[in-house]
Amino acid sequence: MQTTIQPKYTLTRVTCACGNTFESGSVKQDLRVEICSNCHPFFTGRQKFLDAGGRVDKFKRKYGI
Ligand SMILES: [Zn+2]
Repeated sequence: MQTTIQPKYTLTRVTCACGNTFESGSVKQDLRVEICSNCHPFFTGRQKFLDAGGRVDKFKRKYGI
């Protein structure tokens, strides 16, 4: 049996296009996404939790949202 390089499914930092970063399970090291739980309407229920760091507030002020 040969030992090949297999993708390691580990916790990695995901950077979203909206500027939000969060950790998620992925085989990649630095993952970039265009939509995340912060800007996706489906996840708005979790916005309070994600806003804990104040990063979302900063972002909104920056873009005048
Ligand atoms: Zn986002």
